[in-house]
Amino acid sequence: MKVLLHACCGPCIIGLLDFFQDHDLTLFFYNPNIEPKEEYQKRLESVKKIAQEFNLKLIEDDYENGLWHSVVDHYQDEPEGGERCKICFKIRLENLGLTAKSNGFDAMATSLSVNVWKDTQFINQTGQEIAERLGLKFFNFNLDQEQIKKICYQEKELSKQHNLYIQKYCGCLYGLQNQK
Ligand code: SF4
Repeated sequence: MKVLLHACCGPCIIGLLDFFQDHDLTLFFYNPNIEPKEEYQKRLESVKKIAQEFNLKLIEDDYENGLWHSVVDHYQDEPEGGERCKICFKIRLENLGLTAKSNGFDAMATSLSVNVWKDTQFINQTGQEIAERLGLKFFNFNLDQEQIKKICYQEKELSKQHNLYIQKYCGCLYGLQNQK
């Protein structure tokens, strides 16, 4: 199966590659939420490093940070995990689906599905709805919270081994400000 995997950063995909051993995998970097641009560049570089080391194809989409702000700014005071984050997930998943569809992929997946700090139920439900609408399969990893925790821990170790940049916040400056 030809799968397009949305990668939010290097550490979040390095522990997921085994899931796609029997598939034709391409990475997709579309994260207009990541700020500032220097931080975006660091996360992109870590995904490029994985693509190179594991001989994977990578589709890099535009940094549409202005467009992202025009959609989420109304919700800038929301806490992390609130409405702003739901919209942020939807923006990225929608573009993942459209890119997968227009490039002949059979399925779409996202590293956001395997993250202890994110609402993976919402992410998987949204991904499933978008994929169905576009006639694609949604690869949701089918993991419970304990399994997700275990993979996130392994990802930390693997990231150190592969010398990947490990970020200290989710992505946008609103999230970073709320964290302080
Ligand atoms: S905190 Fe993270 S998920 Fe929420 S809006 Fe910001 S970048 Fe997106």
